[in-house]
Amino acid sequence: MNTSLEHARQLDETDELRQFRDAFHIPKQANGEDHIYLCGNSLGLQPKETAAALTQELNDWAKYGVEGHFHAKNPWLPYHEFLTQAMANVVGALPEEVVVMNTLSVNLHLMMVSFYRPTQERYKIIIEADAFPSDVYAVESQIQFHGYGPDACIKVKPREGEHTIRTADLLDLINREGDKVALVLIGNTNYYTGQFFDMKAITVAGHRAGALVGFDCAHGAGNVPLELHDSGADFAVWCSYKYLNSGPGSLGGCFVHQRHHKDKSIPRFTGWWGHNKATRFGMRDGFDPIPTAEAWQLSNPPILSMAAIRASLQLFEAAGIHNLRKKAISLTNYMEALLIEQCGHAIEIITPSESKERGSQLSLLVTKQGKPLFDAITQAGVIADWREPNVIRVSPVPMYNSYEDVWRFVDVMYNQMKA
Ligand SMILES: *Cc1c(COP(=O)(O)O)cnc(C)c1O
Repeated sequence: MNTSLEHARQLDETDELRQFRDAFHIPKQANGEDHIYLCGNSLGLQPKETAAALTQELNDWAKYGVEGHFHAKNPWLPYHEFLTQAMANVVGALPEEVVVMNTLSVNLHLMMVSFYRPTQERYKIIIEADAFPSDVYAVESQIQFHGYGPDACIKVKPREGEHTIRTADLLDLINREGDKVALVLIGNTNYYTGQFFDMKAITVAGHRAGALVGFDCAHGAGNVPLELHDSGADFAVWCSYKYLNSGPGSLGGCFVHQRHHKDKSIPRFTGWWGHNKATRFGMRDGFDPIPTAEAWQLSNPPILSMAAIRASLQLFEAAGIHNLRKKAISLTNYMEALLIEQCGHAIEIITPSESKERGSQLSLLVTKQGKPLFDAITQAGVIADWREPNVIRVSPVPMYNSYEDVWRFVDVMYNQMKA
């Protein structure tokens, strides 16, 4: 392969999304150069438009006070609706299936209130053994809350000596446990290995077994094509501060499949923001749910956080999620090829090598002197992510990372390993 810097620059020149980098603040090193930022899977960078979007709401609050709910340039009362279409496009859902609200772990609990309904016979939850800790805590506490024991949580592991879960093994497990499983809950893109699961196959198997199926798309939203509606999943949750670039702790997203919207038998924790918009301020009637995913809303939402999400989603609309995916595949393949060529002797890439089984992340297993290497590349200007005991996660994000970023990262790795 061509490992020259010139080649990386040529790839940037022909990249149709290259101008989007200028729409972001790229953190600077002490010497004034851009950091090599490969941590967009943890906290996405700030779009330059975000400040203006927040200032708009601050100014309207100063100018109108409570009247801003109606008179702000972007009225606050329906504000969450301004995000719906663009968010639905990002996750491949119908607009009525998507709502931005709360944060991820909160939404996961709210979804389990509705979609984990254990009975004596059918009470188990299937989850990946190396799921994000918050998801495991949420699952275990829901199980306890319903009065079941630890055997209700089935954790799927990779095979001995392997790093990722074979889809066939997961499907076998679903079939085998079949009539005992109430819920299958999978991180659609695993935060640790970067593995992107076949959501449709999992959903079909789960439904065939008589279970409900949900996905945590924290590492999928804005990263891989989710096609949530077509996957048939019952629900999904995600956050907006990773690939969706909406700022630390910003609000999460929630998907509830259309087939559940009018089902009054589904239990739900409710609040006034899920009530019929026409009579919400009557404040006297019994709860009358909005016949969409919005029925799961509890509170009136934080507008400042939503303003940041809105600014970011405009960039996704402009770039197009499918164009981003195309570049993500190319950028990630380029990083993988360079790494194997330059550092292949010392690292093992545990992320699947097939594009359809991964997004914009490579997880590098470094068994010898992993932490010192990570510290050294950090010193040299790379912002990546360290996971104990021995994994460096790097994420070349198609929205703002360049081929030159990738080249520089591998160059730093090569030089630090040699040193
Ligand atoms: C990032 C992430 C979380 C974080 O949850 P918050 O409630 O937003 O703090 C949870 N689960 C997964 C899979 C994640 O990747």
